[in-house]
Amino acid sequence: MTQITSDDATREHVSITDADVEAAHGLLEFIQACPSMFHTAQTIARRLDDAGFTRLREGDAWSVEPGSCCYVVRNNSSVIAFKVGEGATDSGRFHFQLSATHGDSPTFKVKDVATLDGPEGGLRLNVEAYGGMIDYTWFDRPLSLAGRVFVQVDERVESRLVSLDRPVAMIPSLAIHLDRSMNDAFSPNRATDVCPLVSAGLMDEATFDRLVADAAGVEPEQVLARDLFLVNLQQPCVWGAEHEFISSPKLDDLMCAYVSLEAFLEARNTAAVSVYCCFDNEEVGSNTKQGAMSTFLPDVLVRLSAALGAGEEGYRRALAKSMLVSCDNAHAVHPNHPERYDASNRCRLNGGLVVKEAANQHYCTDAFSRAVLAAVCRRAEVPLQTFANRSDMAGGSTLGNLSNIQASMHAVDVGCPQLAMHSSYETAGTRDVTLATKALKAFFEADLRIVEADAVDIA
Ligand code: ZN
Repeated sequence: MTQITSDDATREHVSITDADVEAAHGLLEFIQACPSMFHTAQTIARRLDDAGFTRLREGDAWSVEPGSCCYVVRNNSSVIAFKVGEGATDSGRFHFQLSATHGDSPTFKVKDVATLDGPEGGLRLNVEAYGGMIDYTWFDRPLSLAGRVFVQVDERVESRLVSLDRPVAMIPSLAIHLDRSMNDAFSPNRATDVCPLVSAGLMDEATFDRLVADAAGVEPEQVLARDLFLVNLQQPCVWGAEHEFISSPKLDDLMCAYVSLEAFLEARNTAAVSVYCCFDNEEVGSNTKQGAMSTFLPDVLVRLSAALGAGEEGYRRALAKSMLVSCDNAHAVHPNHPERYDASNRCRLNGGLVVKEAANQHYCTDAFSRAVLAAVCRRAEVPLQTFANRSDMAGGSTLGNLSNIQASMHAVDVGCPQLAMHSSYETAGTRDVTLATKALKAFFEADLRIVEADAVDIA
């Protein structure tokens, strides 16, 4: 474990390489393909298809054997993929090595009756908050819409993903001349201030319905329901004189969703069942049918165990030997506000994956799980950083401890360091894409032999 502090004189500064920039561009392209959580699941599924994985339907019988690579999607917004090592069921070794991330990000959701009339003939969208965003970051920038709609085709109702892929809305600021207090206390009201403008008078509710129907390739009367969200269209970029930074919408948590997917796909481990999870609804508490607190993960693991001949007893025994790495981005020290962070347990951009720990167990890290990950990363010569909240601040929470309610096992919370979490445009370190992928690949490849909470052998 490498401990980084703000006055760490021995800190190593490593140049950003062409390979780092290329890896970062891979992430940014992935994010561009994920304008909503439904697109995130689809993008991950396509990547798995390309890698030769087989999609299993929850409503069908499953056939799984050593060597199988499969994935399951729930609600078209959460994905669990697994690779069964050829020797995964050998003599009492059966266990899981998992990563978990989330594919949703804070945004605004369009209500059923989508528009607000006026004033002066204009048309605005009627939206409500999905998650806890920094509201002002949604103002004065081109916005689009993406999500899914359900359409009726004859006697069948079916899901269609939609993404308008062009600017159709904007939340304009009020001019400084009309509110001189704007720079003192900007506190937008979500019912009256956060109403995206979609027309100055040429459009009505029917035209909006037509816009959505066209995107779905149907007539407006065929659209029965929609889950549509605002999308910040500002393009992601690698920036800085030394290419040190990446900025993009949705780095929380698509950065972890991407690096853990790359690590999962690259890693080889014949002795374990490697599992990749990307859950929906972390930003609204995870307690949905497809969230980290749902039965999705145990449903998959139990059925997978049964298909491999392990049964209920085998599943329980496997959990006792398993470990989860819960990956959700962490707060890097803000250059203008270092006082908001713990004086010594804090992290920086481009310093590598961050282990997050909290005494109140809002992070699932404990000494056992931290020790396992530290040993794995030491062996792979990949740096780890550390994060804890200031002792007088509550801090955030994530999905590891929630997923542990349904499938309890050793678990550690990690994330990539980033700035401006829950802004509509966030910033992270270019090199952290490479470093986090390496750390997670080392975890997936480690031959872990966990002996309850007593010890672990790592080969
Ligand atoms: Zn997150």
